[in-house]
Amino acid sequence: MSVLVYVENADGKFKKSTFEVVSYAAAVSDLLKTELIAISIGDVKQDDLSNLGKYGAAKVLNVSSDKLKNFVNQAYASVIAEAAKREGSSVVVLANSFTGKGLSPRIAVKLKAGLADAAVELPKTDNNTFTIKRTAFSGKAFATVELNSEVKVIALNPNSFQLKESGSISKVEDFQPEFRDSDFRTMVSEIVRASDKIALPDAELVVSAGRGMKGPENWAMIEELAGILGAATACSKPVSDAGWRPHEEHVGQTGIAVSPNLYIAIGISGAIQHLAGVSSSKTIVVINKDPEAPFFKVADYGIVGDAFEVVPKLIDAIKAYKA
Ligand code: FAD
Repeated sequence: MSVLVYVENADGKFKKSTFEVVSYAAAVSDLLKTELIAISIGDVKQDDLSNLGKYGAAKVLNVSSDKLKNFVNQAYASVIAEAAKREGSSVVVLANSFTGKGLSPRIAVKLKAGLADAAVELPKTDNNTFTIKRTAFSGKAFATVELNSEVKVIALNPNSFQLKESGSISKVEDFQPEFRDSDFRTMVSEIVRASDKIALPDAELVVSAGRGMKGPENWAMIEELAGILGAATACSKPVSDAGWRPHEEHVGQTGIAVSPNLYIAIGISGAIQHLAGVSSSKTIVVINKDPEAPFFKVADYGIVGDAFEVVPKLIDAIKAYKA
């Protein structure tokens, strides 16, 4: 028996959310009194792989193959399911990230497993049954699911579990999966970055602005604030509908769901449809001139003020801090 955790990388680097997911999987393996094994796909440095031991992985399976250079849902799911079978894993844990959302149901089907996606807590275990809290209705509610299949798949929402250093160094083993043609019905032949901007779905810091900015000509200060913070830019739906910003920046129920460590909302009212896309952010800062704006109810920090005065001051303060 073992627990298997899929450790996602971006351009060969692990993100904080990866360590969260390993810490969570280590806690699950503690509950089951079993070993935690990690699986990494792609070119990650050996030292970074062995460092996963610090978060509780006893062993790391390293899959490096030209065929898997670019993310392919079907093939990645097959590799992870094959590793779970080979290692006798009763639980597979992964992040409920942009790619994790595509992988988790496929892995569950391949392993005939029950799936708890968008999980936010550790399972309560009773013999073979796991009871897990998950978010529902775009983060507006919680649901409790019971899994009683032999194998279970859990996709953890970002920012739901504290990092925990519990071990030392993992041993790293090469893992050679057996490929089937059916895994490569879709191939990504080339990835062309549309811009050098930070991709919104995986951004750790997001600066987002709404109709309070009055028009597209006022976005220079939003871009500047995002630039000095190293943040991605986002916006509310009416802003992208009006063509002030591109549609891929639209956050919310009908747009992208983000889960950064910091979400700064400027001139956004905080309508429920917008909040649905930002509720898993770790820290929310709201800048709005209306003290009654609904966004303040979910803010960790709120500044009541005119964005055209507050944002330039914030930029100056960050520049002074960095100097
Ligand atoms: P407004 O509601 O116009 O708010 C502007 C805010 O800026 C106000 O709070 C105001 O006080 C503040 N402000 C004005 N001037 C300043 C200033 N100088 N300084 C500081 N603050 C200022 N919306 C989304 O965002 N994402 C979605 O996915 C989404 N999906 C939807 C789906 C459906 C089915 C429906 C019906 C609606 C959806 N909406 C969505 C729209 C949503 O209901 C709101 O209308 C929208 O989020 C409001 O955008 P806003 O906050 O930018 O604009």
